[in-house]
Amino acid sequence: MVLERSELKKKVCVIGAGPSGLVAARELRKEGHVVVVMEQNHDVGGQWLYEPSVEGEDPLGNNKFLKVHSSIYASLRLTSPREIMGFTDFPFLVKKGRDMRRFPGHKELWFYLRDFCDWFGLRELIRFNTRVEYVGMVDSRDSCGDFKWVVRSKLKDDSEVVEEVFDAVVVASGHYSQPRLPTIRGMDSWKRKQMHSHIYRVPEPFRKEVVVIIGNSLSGQDISMELVEVAKEVHLSAKSLGISQGLSKVISKHDNLHLHPQVESLREDGRVVFVDGSWVIADTILYCTGYSYGFPFLDTKGIVVIDDDRVGPLYEHTFPPSLAPSLSFVGIPKKIIGFPFFESQAKWIAQLLSGKTTLPSWEEMMQSIKQFYQSRDDSHVPKHNTHDIADFEYCDMYADHIGFPHLEEWRKELCISALVNADANLESYRDSYDDQQLLQEALQSPHFTQPIM
Ligand SMILES: Cc1cc2nc3c(=O)[nH]c(=O)nc-3n(C[C@H](O)[C@H](O)[C@H](O)COP(=O)(O)OP(=O)(O)OC[C@H]3O[C@@H](n4cnc5c(N)ncnc54)[C@H](O)[C@@H]3O)c2cc1C
Repeated sequence: MVLERSELKKKVCVIGAGPSGLVAARELRKEGHVVVVMEQNHDVGGQWLYEPSVEGEDPLGNNKFLKVHSSIYASLRLTSPREIMGFTDFPFLVKKGRDMRRFPGHKELWFYLRDFCDWFGLRELIRFNTRVEYVGMVDSRDSCGDFKWVVRSKLKDDSEVVEEVFDAVVVASGHYSQPRLPTIRGMDSWKRKQMHSHIYRVPEPFRKEVVVIIGNSLSGQDISMELVEVAKEVHLSAKSLGISQGLSKVISKHDNLHLHPQVESLREDGRVVFVDGSWVIADTILYCTGYSYGFPFLDTKGIVVIDDDRVGPLYEHTFPPSLAPSLSFVGIPKKIIGFPFFESQAKWIAQLLSGKTTLPSWEEMMQSIKQFYQSRDDSHVPKHNTHDIADFEYCDMYADHIGFPHLEEWRKELCISALVNADANLESYRDSYDDQQLLQEALQSPHFTQPIM
């Protein structure tokens, strides 16, 4: 007897209880699936579960499994206003007695995620302190012709490996932990301190030091601004000297903050030499060079590979055509308004697994991926930026796959307004803004006025 997909409830393993994993768990359960979330940490929140101690972590992240997941530093505040952050039916509300700022500190977002988890009763689905060590295909397929998956996991401080079989696996393990490092001549033999921003927490250890910060995107800028207050000198090395007005203003305000081009080499005498021939003798090099995708537990027999931070082939950044829908990924895209996008991914996956909707044929999915890569190449987007979306139209198109609502105009406009403000006023954009009208529009929209179900 051939069973219709919709007759089946799938047993699904979700890896990770960060924003992506939590919303995946909710959507899968709503669709009637049996969900087990495995989370290596002791609580929910993913990146937003701040970890003050980085003891034992390799400073450059040279471990297969990292000891610390979160790369959040103590002073971190959100880069976008809270109003745009929430899942579509669970607004990120201001709560009395908590951090009520529009760009709150990281802990406030962690509280929001805990509230989300508790409101929807997700905690009972989660196995905490449980690290997934291996995920691989089982030889036989199920009655729909889909692969089943073996998942091996281990409880913290326990040596016993637990092996289980699931109908489907949703990978929601995040990608802001594994340091992405440049290749610089002399890097391996440079004897002074080198570390990645993954383990940066507070400025105090750098007091009176000469620090070279490599990379001037979000973390590089934030960390430079707090290090200038304690370090002797901060030297910020940027890929391009065409920096934002906001960063220029900051640099001109501080005598001990200097802008440099890329680093050419590191020398044994402690010199850091820049490509224009200038150099400084540094105590520490801090790499704020971003993060790499990594799924050290995943064995797809070479079907899904990471090539210079392109995870593929993935149809719409979510489904490997040969393994879909039983293997899927939530949270891969970057430069998007994250939470609602993850929610739309989760809904699509849940509905595919229950048979409410279907994917195009394998050929069509592969063709779509090929065309997407070609369009990226034509626009000279480096391969490692494959998953940088920065396109609201794409998010709306994505939503159309399952009839998910488009992003509200106010969300898009508030997002852009914050980016423009940050570009011009890097030091103050989180506390001083000029978007009152948009804010009112947001607060009067159904997102904020609807009852939470
Ligand atoms: C410094 C910094 C600043 C940021 N600022 C912003 C911001 O202002 N706004 C914004 O929207 N986003 C920001 N982000 C991005 C942030 O990562 C996302 O908001 C969000 O946390 C992604 O959610 P996720 O669930 O996909 O991944 P994560 O939050 O990383 O969660 C993944 C979860 O999977 C678990 N996990 C991983 N591997 C395993 C395993 N093998 N077994 C079991 N569990 C596992 C982890 O412990 C973790 O709980 C920032 C990131 C960083 C690093």
